[in-house]
Amino acid sequence: MTPSYDIAVVGGGILGCATALRLSEGGMRAIVIERGDLGQGASGVNAGTLSLQIKRVKLMPYALEGHRRWAALGDAVGYRETGGYTLAFNEREANLLHERMALKAEAGAPIEFVAPSDLAKREPGLCQQVVAASWCAKDGYANSSLTGRYYRARLLAAQIPYREHSAVTAIEPFEQGFTLRTSHGEVSSRRLLLACGGWLQDVTKMLGVDLPVRARINTVSVTERGPRLVNTVVGHATGLLTLKQKANGTVLIGGGWQGQGSPREGRGRIDLGTLVPNLALAQYAVPGLRRLRILRSWTGFEANVPDFYPLAGALPGVPGAFVLGCVRGGYTIGPYISELMGDFILGREPERPLFDPARVFEATT
Ligand SMILES: Cc1cc2nc3c(=O)[nH]c(=O)nc-3n(C[C@H](O)[C@H](O)[C@H](O)COP(=O)(O)OP(=O)(O)OC[C@H]3O[C@@H](n4cnc5c(N)ncnc54)[C@H](O)[C@@H]3O)c2cc1C
Repeated sequence: MTPSYDIAVVGGGILGCATALRLSEGGMRAIVIERGDLGQGASGVNAGTLSLQIKRVKLMPYALEGHRRWAALGDAVGYRETGGYTLAFNEREANLLHERMALKAEAGAPIEFVAPSDLAKREPGLCQQVVAASWCAKDGYANSSLTGRYYRARLLAAQIPYREHSAVTAIEPFEQGFTLRTSHGEVSSRRLLLACGGWLQDVTKMLGVDLPVRARINTVSVTERGPRLVNTVVGHATGLLTLKQKANGTVLIGGGWQGQGSPREGRGRIDLGTLVPNLALAQYAVPGLRRLRILRSWTGFEANVPDFYPLAGALPGVPGAFVLGCVRGGYTIGPYISELMGDFILGREPERPLFDPARVFEATT
């Protein structure tokens, strides 16, 4: 007999797993179905930066709540609150920095500006050519490679079944719900949550809905272990750099530089044309990096829609189906927006507004 649930969650990334936990707390029998290992997608390969300075203004209240949740998870996810600096190296960047950070501070982020002379004392490993800098004491990072392990343990503890290595290949609606065909048999459920990251468009198409989801192919690099160069998260006014040195001495470098490939191909590829400027900017910001070799660079898929706001709500035209994805900075915001999404599915009023997926069709008609 096909096992039946109140809700099937397709996608075992941070958004799928965290929402399943909320739904289960609310009394729903949920199952998580994941094509590979839990946390193998963006949630497990991202740069782990938890920075209010790189969040969009409208998402700031969600990011602040996300930070609170990461702080509560602590060592289990490698959480560190180090504070973070964002740097400008010329007047144009300084103007950009002041304009952006003032808006983010107004939205509630505890961001202040720091004189370059103070910066040199507080973080001596940074480049001496800084023209302006902002500081946020709440910034930090967690270890994304622990995402799968962490959520597997949470699902087990909450007795939420999950199926790994089970790709959903077809979804058929019927009167009381949905039948999902997977590479390891069928599952049926009354409701459905699609939380499949960069693969969202392919999966919603199984239900005849063509969401305009595109995937960015973000690049991250890690160096060999080295002596202490910086103690805080370092960013750049353009948003094209995030950098932090882990306790073991390795330095993780990101900034949203694009690789090649597509989710359909399965894996992205490094593009040397973007990797080299990413690393050059990192070395300019932290000159001591020139002494460290890059051990590995990799890519991951981050989904988005044209307005770069989340999709969080009912899937248009398919009663009983919901979608959660395309959350910019989704690692930071994930634990919180998943709670809101869970509440919405449970029929409760979420404490903050969600982001109705129907808008992406209205915007194009
Ligand atoms: C390289 C990179 C760096 C990033 N850095 C940061 C950062 O520093 N800070 C930050 O806040 N955010 C960062 N992000 C964004 C963040 O990682 C994502 O927003 C977040 O992880 C998205 O979570 P998700 O659950 O929606 O997607 P994912 O983690 O991708 O999960 C989706 C899951 O669905 C599964 N799936 C897909 N199709 C199917 C199917 N047919 N059947 C079953 N399962 C399926 C996939 O295998 C995958 O595991 C970064 C993203 C990338 C790619």
